[in-house]
Amino acid sequence: MAEIALVDPRPKVVEQDGQHLIQGWRCAECNYAITQEVPRCPECRGGMKVSYFGPTGTVHGSTTIRVRVPGQQHPYSLAYVLFPDGPRVLVHTPGDTPLPLRSTATLTGLTENGEIAAQRDGERV
Ligand SMILES: [Zn+2]
Repeated sequence: MAEIALVDPRPKVVEQDGQHLIQGWRCAECNYAITQEVPRCPECRGGMKVSYFGPTGTVHGSTTIRVRVPGQQHPYSLAYVLFPDGPRVLVHTPGDTPLPLRSTATLTGLTENGEIAAQRDGERV
């Protein structure tokens, strides 16, 4: 049986000058932003170039998960964060309360499970 190579589908987080950023791609023709590497822009078929998004974005939606998941501290909260002129990314946020809609959140790195982490601006961990 052939082995199947597993690829982590989560967006990549990089640290630059003490800030955490999402490494993604942007179309050189139409400016379309995406977090997964693709050979051509899904909108216009233009060429893609590496681009960085964040560290701060606007909360587009948020919820708290109370279901127990093996290896996952619970409850935990998730939020969709929309980066300016960039993609929307699902992040884990601390605490058991969803982030308010349209509040701002900043990337803080990765959780111990490798999930993208962010916190509401002005909130202490
Ligand atoms: Zn394009």
